[in-house]
Amino acid sequence: MDDTEILAGALAFHGHRCWASTAGVRLGLAAMRALGVERAGAKELHAIVEIGDFHGGMCFGDGIQYTTGCTFGKGNIEKSREGKFAVTLFDKASARAVRVAYRPTVQPQIRATSFMQKRAAGVPASQIPDDEQMEVVHLVWDAPAEAVMAVGPIEARSWIEPEEIVRFAVCPGCGELVAEPYLRVAEGRLVCTACSGYPR
Ligand SMILES: [Zn+2]
Ligand SMILES: [Zn+2]
Repeated sequence: MDDTEILAGALAFHGHRCWASTAGVRLGLAAMRALGVERAGAKELHAIVEIGDFHGGMCFGDGIQYTTGCTFGKGNIEKSREGKFAVTLFDKASARAVRVAYRPTVQPQIRATSFMQKRAAGVPASQIPDDEQMEVVHLVWDAPAEAVMAVGPIEARSWIEPEEIVRFAVCPGCGELVAEPYLRVAEGRLVCTACSGYPR
C-alpha cells in the first residue's frame, strides 16, 4: 500500500475525514520510518499516544492505530492522557523508541475551513459534505513534513511486556465469559464485576 491508500483506509476505518485522524496517519508513518519498522501484525510494536478522554482531536488515536497496527484489541497501545497529539513508538525487538509530536502550524487554516466552522456550530462531522471534510485532510496531508510534525531522536528504550493472562471463567451469575483477573468474590462465589454489585 502506498501512503495515499493507507490514508484512505484509515479515514474509512475512522468513519469521517478530519485533521486529527490525518495527523495520526502522518505521524504514525513517520515514527515507523524513523525506526525502520513495518506495521505490527502481532505485537512487534508498542505505542503510547498522548491523547486523553472526552476532548476534541482524539481521532488522532485512530490514525495511529490503523497505520502502526498498535490497537486497543491487541493491547499494544495506551493513552498517557495528557490531551496532546504525539506518539511514542517502541520497536520491541531492537529496544528503540521514537517520539513524534504534531506541530500546529496549519491550525489557523484548519480553523478557518467551513468544516471546522460547522463543527464549532455543533454539526456532526458525518453530516458535513465530503469535499469540505477533504479540505481539512489536505491541509495536514499536503503540508511539508517539518510544518506538521517534529520527529525526536531514536532512543534506546525497551518495552517490558506485562504477562498476559489467558484463562477465562463463566460467571455463575450471568453465564457470560470473563477473564480470570476480573473475577470478584461476592457472597462466596467468583462472579463478574457486574454480578458482584461492587463498583467498577
Ligand atoms: Zn475524526
Ligand atoms: Zn456475571
